[in-house]
Formats: sequence, C-alpha cells, structure tokens
Amino acid sequence: MAFEELLEDPVIQKYLHELVGPTGMPVAAAPPDGEVTDEELAEELGLELNDVRRALFILYENDLASYRRVRDEDSGWLTYLWTFQYDNIPENLEEEMYRLLEGIEQREEYESDHQFYLCEVDSIRFEFEEAMEFGFECPECGSPLESMENSRLVEAMEWRIDQLREELNVDSEEPEAQA
Ligand SMILES: [Zn+2]
Repeated sequence: MAFEELLEDPVIQKYLHELVGPTGMPVAAAPPDGEVTDEELAEELGLELNDVRRALFILYENDLASYRRVRDEDSGWLTYLWTFQYDNIPENLEEEMYRLLEGIEQREEYESDHQFYLCEVDSIRFEFEEAMEFGFECPECGSPLESMENSRLVEAMEWRIDQLREELNVDSEEPEAQA
C-alpha cells in the first residue's frame, strides 16, 4: 500500500495527529518504507530522540509500527529496528468510528430519556429528580430552576448517528412495523 496516498487523507492526518500530538507528527507523517532506527529518524527529522521514541511507542501501541531488536556485535548495544505498519490504519479508524457511534448513541438515549432543569445563573443542569429534591431551586444560589429544552441537542446527535451509520454501513435501528 502506498503510504503517501494514505497520508493525503485529511481524516487519517487528523487521526495520526490525535494519536502522537504535534511533536510526534513529523515521525508519523513520514513513514519510511523499510526498517529504521529511532536515532536515524531523529537525525533525519531534526527531532529530539525522546520525542521520536515517544511517537514510535504510541504507533506501536496502536498496531501501526513494530520493532525487532538486534545486538550490535562490536558494542553489544541493542538496536531497535522499526517498521511502520500503516496498512492497519483503515481498520483502526473503523473501530474508532464504532466506538464513537456507541458513545453518541448512549448519550442520545440519556438525553431523550431525561428531563432537565437549569439554573441560568450558574449554568448548572439538573435531572428532573434532582431538581425536585431541591424544590426546583438552585442549591448554589437559590434561583428558580427552569425547565430546559434539549431537543436541539438530541436532533444534532441523531443527525451525527445517522451520518456515522451511513459511513459504517450499519443499518439504522428504526423499529419495523409489525405485519
Ligand atoms: Zn444557581
């Protein structure tokens, strides 16, 4: 697979950036074809060795890089030879999207299933039961708690859920009419 092509994708760039951060990005964005040592990368990219190692380790944790150790016969030092495995990126991204979808679905359910009350002074939100316990008065400042509309938020989340399901080719879970 051509790494260059993958790396032109802004979604993949963002994904890598979130993984390794700005200091690790030069490492993540310039994967060499064959094996490479951390020292070679640091020198090539003009980076601190620690920053290179940190980025490599994050990539390793996410199955995007692997290494093998070789012992230098003269010095006895261990050298780590790194290989980038960016073929795994699409699969990782898909898993990430499933996690995101699940999170939004749970949040959406919570938002739709609850009624909320707001103290406009402190911008604190209470669930109905809580608000009732406080006699619909803010425990912080004593202001009356106002019923709060969250249908906009729910709609926005539903829209995002549809979008993600479409991207992932997941069937929507609309209840089917019984025959
Ligand atoms: Zn308040």
